Amino acid sequence: MSSNKKLLILPGDGIGPEVMREVRRVVDWMDRRRHVSFNIEEGLVGGAALDAEGTPCSDETVERAKAVDAVLFGSVGGPKWDSMPFDKRPELGVLRLRKDLGLFANLRPAVVLDALVDASSLKPDLVRGLDVMIVRESTGGIYFGEPRGIHTDANGKRTGIDTEVYTEGEIARVARIAFDLARKRRNKVTSVEKANVMQSGRLWRAVVGEIGKAEFPDVELEHMYADNCAMQLCSRPKQFDVILGSNLFGDVLSDLAAALTGSLGMLPSATLGAVDASGRRHALYEPVHGSAPDIAGKGIANPCAQILSFAMLLRWSFGMEEDARLVETAVENVLAGGLRTADIMQPGMARVGTSVMGEALVRELDKLSA
Ligand code: NAD
Repeated sequence: MSSNKKLLILPGDGIGPEVMREVRRVVDWMDRRRHVSFNIEEGLVGGAALDAEGTPCSDETVERAKAVDAVLFGSVGGPKWDSMPFDKRPELGVLRLRKDLGLFANLRPAVVLDALVDASSLKPDLVRGLDVMIVRESTGGIYFGEPRGIHTDANGKRTGIDTEVYTEGEIARVARIAFDLARKRRNKVTSVEKANVMQSGRLWRAVVGEIGKAEFPDVELEHMYADNCAMQLCSRPKQFDVILGSNLFGDVLSDLAAALTGSLGMLPSATLGAVDASGRRHALYEPVHGSAPDIAGKGIANPCAQILSFAMLLRWSFGMEEDARLVETAVENVLAGGLRTADIMQPGMARVGTSVMGEALVRELDKLSA
């Protein structure tokens, strides 16, 4: 029995607390059946934190997030806070956590489960068995580079400016994560940039190449222009294993890859920081979807993305590969058995709500571990 696994759960707004309840069922199951106990704290973030604490993410929440082994995040935002000034937007909650915890590598798996192969926007043959991991640099690049802003000249004409800046250190650390991941998968990294037209792209290609050659010679490395990668993702997505890209290209390509899988309600993500001197790594796990205000409170949200984010947490923060696989297999089996939440409903399947889906997952976990 180990109980030194410290988690901070931040359910947030909208469907966040609803889907997080189903994660708690899985956590309780782990406690009961796998004899793994977690030391769990809960906190407020986003609109819920704005209402209670006057800020989307308080200093105290940041300190608590730094003190735990992993943060499990729900989603933030909603119409109630849409008219808040920019510096009080609920969405700043997650941005602050990423920044203050130094979470520079965003991992987004795009996996097409057999049961959902018809939900993809592509033909089933193109996506059956698809399993791509997008690694996106998430604290640098054009979203943060200076100078930035909208300037007005003496004639009243405006110019919008953003700056793509990458140091070789920033590129190297996220590249190492991608190579390391590839070693645990199918051993191939596709690094994307626009080295043909961007100086930061030239540096990106050079540094990724150097790291690959010096530290990961066993991993196949291919360089691809980001626009070509977008096209290839739509025409031959199964050629990819790990795709590595900057903040901007990773953002766009991971949404594209997500669309190939068909449902936002199924997609987890992890954002990782550097390993510190004590061997610990800050990490935050969250579904790709937002707070879905249109369905919040109706009990129909799909909890799978949040539960699969917890599976990523088991794998990446605690090295619990077997338990992570167990949770993922339970999700696959429940869907294969015909249960569907509204977002992934298909003809002939049984439509269920959030909590029935959570209960079915726990029953499947029982079966799998019997
Ligand atoms: P969204 O992801 O919340 O919803 C998009 C659509 O997908 C909606 O129709 C919604 O009902 C559906 N959907 C999403 N998750 C689902 C689930 N688990 N089960 C079933 N259906 C699901 O995106 P949006 O509508 O553009 O944004 C809503 C709010 O969420 C906004 O305030 C936005 O800023 C915020 N947001 C937050 C995050 C985050 O917390 N990291 C991410 C994206 C959006």
